[in-house]
Order: sequence, then C-alpha cells, then structure tokens
Amino acid sequence: MFGPTSLNIFNVQMQIKTPLELYKLLNKSNCRQCMLPSCMAFAVAVIQGSKRLADCPYLDPDLIDNLQQALAPRTFLADDQEKIVQQLQRKVAELDFSEVAKRIGAVVIDGRLAVNCLGKDFLIDRQGEMTSACHLIPWVLIPLLNYILYCKGKEPLGEWVGMAELQDSAQWGHYFSHRCEEPLRQLAEAHTDLIFEILQVFNASAARGTSSADYSLVVKPLPLVPVLINYWEAEDEFPSKLNILFDRSAEKNLPAEALYLMIRGIVEMFRQLIVRHSRDGKLF
Ligand code: SF4
Repeated sequence: MFGPTSLNIFNVQMQIKTPLELYKLLNKSNCRQCMLPSCMAFAVAVIQGSKRLADCPYLDPDLIDNLQQALAPRTFLADDQEKIVQQLQRKVAELDFSEVAKRIGAVVIDGRLAVNCLGKDFLIDRQGEMTSACHLIPWVLIPLLNYILYCKGKEPLGEWVGMAELQDSAQWGHYFSHRCEEPLRQLAEAHTDLIFEILQVFNASAARGTSSADYSLVVKPLPLVPVLINYWEAEDEFPSKLNILFDRSAEKNLPAEALYLMIRGIVEMFRQLIVRHSRDGKLF
C-alpha cells in the first residue's frame, strides 16, 4: 500500500534533533506496523532511543543509513543504554531474590522478583530479564535495576526536597530542571486533565500538608522512592509552574544519576501515553 519513503540526500546532511524533524521524513500513513499508534509517536520513540529506524518497514535501507548519521549522537546513547542494561541484568541475576525482596520492599512470585512501580508489577527472572504490562524502555529499566542492586532499604522520612538539595545529586539539579521539570510542566499545561488522570492510574495519592499548588500528588516510581509532583496552573499574568520533589532519604535507595533517569523515564512515558490517548494524537 505504501512505498519506501524516498528522500533527496541533501535533506539529511543536517542533524535531526527533534521528533518533528524526523516526522517530516516519514510517510505519515499512521499504519501502526512499528507497533506505535502514529508516525509522530514513532518519531518521538526514535529520538528518545526506544525505537530503531528499521522498525518502520517503509523507510528505504539507503535512507536509513543516511538518517542514522543524522541521528548519530542519539543512536550511540541508545546503544550505551542497552549495554548498561545488560551489565546490570547480569549483576541482578546473581542476587538472592528472597534477601533482596525484604530489603527493597518487593516480593517473590514463582521465583521471580516482583517490584511495584507506579502501581504496576515489574517481574525479574533468574536471568535478570524483566517483564511488565508497561512498555520497557531503558530510561525505566536502568533506574529499576539500580534500585534492586543498591537500595539500602531506608524508609522515607517524610521530608520533601528538590534534587539540588540532595547531597550527592546537586550536580544533576540543572539537568533535572531542564530535562524533567520543564518538559513535564509543558505537558501538564497542554494536557492538564489527561496528565492527572494518568497519574491516578499510576496510583497517585493526594499529598498531605499545606502546599499552595493546584495539584499536589505523591507517586511511587519505586517502593521506597516516593516522589511529590506539585503543579500550579497559569493565572492572569503568572505562568504555570511545576516542581518534582524527592524524599530526603531518596539517595540512600537509588544513586543520584538513576534518580534523574527515573524521572526522565516517567516524562518519556507521559509523552508516549499522551500521543496514544490525546484526542488528536499530538503532544502540543
Ligand atoms: S512510522 Fe510506524 S506508523 Fe508511520 S509509516 Fe512507519 S510503521 Fe507506519
């Protein structure tokens, strides 16, 4: 029905940095053969490293080679992530699951370690392989495997702090604000109802306390690593605002980089869910 996309070589001499730039090069049929609901969702997934160009059967192999060069930095990142996941899986496979389950707030089901993330069980088998009803992307896998390996079992203290206030995570504060809080604020502003409906599906609970935020919800991406999301809607001349806070104990249960990646993974999951469930299938 659709032929391979043909493209003048001059169009791919530049670097492709955004999903929209890649989307313009796809055939836009939304045929779903890449297992995603639209060509735009596919473009987002390729840029984020969770899909390969070859997953679209309508891209000509020569064109894929050219596009790989244009996407090179991201592709290397995706390859690195896969290697990291494999290394972590090997280490997890050596663990005593009964001992680990007690330490990290998980359970053992039929010989597999079941870790509850955002209300959904992620099951890890004796080979370190993981299955879940949720889509498994490296941004999610890496924090989860790090949690299994390094969580010290520290109970949350009930004191919420920003990433920059955590002892070992301060260096991630700048990235965190630009790569996690700001993108989530933009999504929350464009899809307020959908974002907070999704959070309810992920077992979010109303935060206790006296926050002035319009929405103040606690989610548990990992059993002992709760996260508080505060969102203030735009009002008159005041723009919308969003912050993401961690329990003061967070670094005892997850290394700083994995904390950052965990929230990147959540933001990426939101992007994919919005493309899938919003009325027009668009992020913005
Ligand atoms: S990107 Fe996905 S939806 Fe778009 S044409 Fe290719 S296989 Fe079909």
